[in-house]
Amino acid sequence: MYEEMTSLERCLATIRLEPHDRVPVDLHNFMMTVVDSKLPPEKLYQNGQLLGEAQVAAWKRFGQDMLIVENGTAALAEACGCEVSYVHASAPVIEKPLLTSLSEVSSLRKPDPWKSPLCRAVLAATRLVLDQIGDQVYVMGRADQGPFDLACMIAGPETFLMELAIGESDEQIFELLEYTSDAYILYAKMFQEMGCPGTSIGEALCSPDVISPAMYDKYCLPYGKKVVSALQNDDFFLAYHVCGNTTKIIGRMVETGAKVLEFDYKCDKTIAKKASAGRTTLLGPIDPSGVLQQGSVEDVEKACREAIEVLAPGGGFILGPGCALPGTTPAKNIDRLVECARVYGKY
Ligand SMILES: [Zn+2]
Repeated sequence: MYEEMTSLERCLATIRLEPHDRVPVDLHNFMMTVVDSKLPPEKLYQNGQLLGEAQVAAWKRFGQDMLIVENGTAALAEACGCEVSYVHASAPVIEKPLLTSLSEVSSLRKPDPWKSPLCRAVLAATRLVLDQIGDQVYVMGRADQGPFDLACMIAGPETFLMELAIGESDEQIFELLEYTSDAYILYAKMFQEMGCPGTSIGEALCSPDVISPAMYDKYCLPYGKKVVSALQNDDFFLAYHVCGNTTKIIGRMVETGAKVLEFDYKCDKTIAKKASAGRTTLLGPIDPSGVLQQGSVEDVEKACREAIEVLAPGGGFILGPGCALPGTTPAKNIDRLVECARVYGKY
C-alpha cells in the first residue's frame, strides 16, 4: 500500500500533534522475538546483536511504525547492582532486593549501564536497529525502569510498598527516589545521545491497582515530572508507561508532561481521550493477553475499531498493545492489528 509519510514521519507528526495521514501502530514484542528465535532467553536478552537483528526481522515481517527495543524490566536494576534471573519464555526478573533495609539507601552507588549485560544488550541492539532502519521507523530504545519501579526493585516491592503504607520512612524513601531518578536520567540520556527520537519511563507499579492516587501524587508524580523535564525536548520524547486501570490517574499522568502515555485496555478510553486531547499522545490500549494472544482475528479487529473510533479523532493516538505482548501471540493477530491502523486509522 502506497503511503505519503514514512513510519518515522508519521510517529513524529503524531507526537508533535501535527497533521498526519493515519494512526501509527506500535508493537511491544520483545517476548515474541525470544520465542521466534528459539534461543534460551538469557542468550537473546544479553546479546545486543541478536536482540537487534530479531527486532529488524520482526519489523520486516510486520511493518509497524514504532519499534520498541527492550529486554524486560530488569536492565537498569541490574546496572544498579540487583541480581537477575531468567524465566522460560518470559522476561528476566530480579530475584531478590538489593537492599535488606531502607536504612542502607545511602550505600547505593551510581549505576554503570556498560557493566550490566542487559543494559549493554539494549544499547547495542538499539544502535544496530537505528543504523539499519532508523531513517524509516521510530526506534524507541527503552530506558525502563522509571524512578518508582526501580525503587521497588532495589528495596523489594513488598518492603517498599509496606514502608509507603506505614509512612514513617519518608526521608529514606525520598532519598531512594532521588537516587533512582538520577539513575534513570543517566541511562535515558544514553538513548538520547545515540539518536533515538524517544525513550520510555516504565512505571507499571504506579498504577491505582497497586497504590492509591494520593500516594501517586506524593511518590510518583514529582519524580515523573523531574525526569521528563530533565530529558524531553522538541526532538526527544518520553513515553510514560503505567499498567492496569489508570482511569483515576490519567489526568495526573498528563501532568508529568510526557509526550506519550502508554495505557492499558482497563483504562476508560473516553476519559483518557478527554484528559489528553491537545496535550499529549496516547499509545495503546489493546489487551495483549485477552485479545491479541488469546482472541480471534475478529476480536482484534473489533477492539482496534472501537479504540480508533474513540481515540483517533483530532490525532494524538498510536494504536498498539497496552503492555508487553506474550511470547506466543499469533502472527495473524499482529497482522490484523497493523492492518487496522492502515485501513480504519486514515485521517
Ligand atoms: Zn504495562
